[in-house]
Amino acid sequence: MDDQVQEVPGGRRSATEGPKQRAADKRPRGTTGKGPAYPESVDRLISELGRLPGIGRRSAERLAFHILKSESGLASALAGAITDVKQKVRNCSTCFNLTDADPCPICSDPSRDHGLVLVVEQPKDLIALEQTGVHKGGFHVLLGRLSPLEGIGPEDLTIPDLLKRIAAADDGGPGGRAKVREVILGLNPTLEGDGTAMYLAEQIRSLGVKVSRLARGLPTGWQLEYANKAVLTDAIQGRQDME
Ligand code: ZN
Repeated sequence: MDDQVQEVPGGRRSATEGPKQRAADKRPRGTTGKGPAYPESVDRLISELGRLPGIGRRSAERLAFHILKSESGLASALAGAITDVKQKVRNCSTCFNLTDADPCPICSDPSRDHGLVLVVEQPKDLIALEQTGVHKGGFHVLLGRLSPLEGIGPEDLTIPDLLKRIAAADDGGPGGRAKVREVILGLNPTLEGDGTAMYLAEQIRSLGVKVSRLARGLPTGWQLEYANKAVLTDAIQGRQDME
């Protein structure tokens, strides 16, 4: 009898099988082909990071290992910033911009013209426009755009608040309560942005307030021959006097 063959339980092996094959047979079941799992807390961090937009599994792993490797200061600063943003930041009750003081610094700035309100979809649009330093009026952030396909109606956005703000405004000073003379629509030039702008224009005009929209057309540095028909149409319709 060959005692090496009897090492494999229940196996009827020939003696020609090498020791390597027998070693493989002794591996505990269920782990074949799989690497070791991460510790539970690492796994948890990866899966939480992976829930963020634009972060796939590999990016989440990369970020998690970066946090793991770095000094503890980074982890506490990151955790603190995330907690702070959820506790302190909210939407301004007048313009719905993100703020940690209500009303926000723009709405409470007496040097701005609160009779001129620029309507945008998201706080990031407000920031982009604000960085130009050209608009000296107030803002109103819709927090989205109308989308019949996704079931997003006026009530899901801050449209009722905007209409109320226009209708209820008095002639009193700062604080976003000034009488609105003109609303500038600064929505994105997309199908849904345009649909939202058309809806708003109708509603605002019915309150007797002037409505305008941001000009569109040719971006600086572009050439006419590369512009599409919609861009050229907008450029012609939004032409300006030469000064
Ligand atoms: Zn505000």
